[in-house]
Amino acid sequence: MKTDSPIYVAGHTGLVGSALVRTLRSQGYTRLLLRERKDLDLIDQSAVAGFFEKERPEYVFLVAGRVGGIHANDSYPAEFIYENLMIEATVIQAAWRAGVKKLLFTGSSCIYPKLAPQPIKEECLLSGPLEPTNEWYALAKIAGIKLAQAYRKQHGFNAICAMPTNLYGPGDNFDLKTSHVLPALIRKFHEARLAAAPEAVVWGTGTPRREFLHVNDLADALLFLMLRYDQSGIINVGTGQDLTIRDLCEIVREVVGYKGRIVFDSGMPDGTLRKVLDISRIRSLGWRPKTSLKEGIEQTYRWYCSTLQ
Ligand code: GDP
Repeated sequence: MKTDSPIYVAGHTGLVGSALVRTLRSQGYTRLLLRERKDLDLIDQSAVAGFFEKERPEYVFLVAGRVGGIHANDSYPAEFIYENLMIEATVIQAAWRAGVKKLLFTGSSCIYPKLAPQPIKEECLLSGPLEPTNEWYALAKIAGIKLAQAYRKQHGFNAICAMPTNLYGPGDNFDLKTSHVLPALIRKFHEARLAAAPEAVVWGTGTPRREFLHVNDLADALLFLMLRYDQSGIINVGTGQDLTIRDLCEIVREVVGYKGRIVFDSGMPDGTLRKVLDISRIRSLGWRPKTSLKEGIEQTYRWYCSTLQ
């Protein structure tokens, strides 16, 4: 990929896509093709095929999709499975037909079985039943991986698949009903501090363990893989380190400056008990994350506060 190659970032307004655009621009890539949803609906097959025929991107980052936290996944299963399946099938088919040189597809760490041995290795894919709270999304993402692998096997299409862990950062969704845990905690503790609330409520028991990757680190990894990785096998992207939701609460509380009590609502689901990726494959290629969790949360909190002004 050259700095003047035409590059299409599908999903450039999202958390991952916007970070990727910042990274590509900062690395000197000048021909970014970007379309907002109102101008190109990624589940509209003929519109997407027309876009590829006309614009002829050479490289594609497919980071578009319907995403959300544990409650959103559980509440809108039809939207999660339908939109993700349609976007993947439409974009991968159109990219292959238009002669794209290479496509990178992002999945998620929730594609792995609920009871996969931790840290989770890439080989665990399809080795057991999924976590029920997000199986719709996970199944759509698994189908996306298989699409990419099938087009490589049958047509020699250079499609690669990266599996990011739980992400956070500027551009995240802070809507408490649909967000993931990290932005939810930032918002809850911020609002509790402003209201001088004696307590803030956190979902679940606080015991599940999760891994969090700053989206700037993911963007860096996606560019790294686009430049250096050409294999059919999926590749994990994370930090390889996890912590309990309770410990995460303590870090966020300190960053935000909330001093009240944290109450765990065990009536809300915990989801899978532990989810941390084995990142030895990407490490062996020479990539590692740069942002510590504390710094990343501080930076995301500053960004969140800037959106409130
Ligand atoms: P998951 O990794 O797919 O389960 O996604 P989430 O980020 O939505 O949830 C991670 C964990 O954080 C789960 O155990 C949730 O119960 C817990 N959690 C605690 N408070 C919240 C909250 O306010 N919002 C969300 N989304 N999760 C929360």
